[in-house]
Amino acid sequence: MTEVKDYIRTIPDFPHEGILFRDVTTLFASPRGFRMAIDQLLHPYSGMRFDKVVGLEARGFILGGAVAHQLSAGFVPIRKKGKLPAATIGQAYQLEYGEAEVEIHDDAIEPGEKILLVDDLLATGGTAEAGVKLIEKLGGEVIGCAFIVDLPDLGGRAKLESLDMDVHALCV
Ligand code: IMP
Repeated sequence: MTEVKDYIRTIPDFPHEGILFRDVTTLFASPRGFRMAIDQLLHPYSGMRFDKVVGLEARGFILGGAVAHQLSAGFVPIRKKGKLPAATIGQAYQLEYGEAEVEIHDDAIEPGEKILLVDDLLATGGTAEAGVKLIEKLGGEVIGCAFIVDLPDLGGRAKLESLDMDVHALCV
C-alpha cells in the first residue's frame, strides 16, 4: 500500500552539495497523496477546537490552508522578514551559517487563541521554534505542531518537546 512517504521525492545535493532535500511537491501534486497527508495531519486533533492554523513560509501555507479549512479555523502566515505588508513582530533564529528572521502580523492572533502550527518538514527546529515564540508573544496558545517529515537526527523534535510542544509528524 502506498504511504505518504512514498510520494516524497529525494533530491541529492540541493540546495548545497551533501544535502538530501526532501521534496514534497510530488506529494502535493498527487490527488490521493495530498488528501492522505491532510487527513493524517488532522488525525490527532479530531474533536479539538482551534481558532487558527499558523503556516510557516512557504510549504506550510499550502498545508496550513487545507488544514485550516478542515478545522473551520482561520489561517495566519509566518513569513520571512520584509514580506508582510502591515505592522509585524519578528523573531530571529540561527541557521547553519548565519541568522534568519521570520515575522507575523501583530494583530493576527488574539490572546488565548488556540493555535495549530504547520510546516512541511522539521529539521533543526529553528524555524518552528521561532514560530512558536511569535505566536506566544501575541498571547496565542500552541496546542500542536504538525509536520509531514521529521528528521529526528537534526534535533528539531527534541527542541520543540523541550518547550513542552506536542509534535506530530507523518514520516520520520
Ligand atoms: P529547520 O528550521 O532546521 O527545522 O528547517 C526547517 C525549515 O527548512 C522548514 O521551513 C522546511 O520547509 C525547510 N527545509 C529544510 N530542509 C528541507 C528539506 O529537505 N525539504 C523541504 N524543506 C526543508
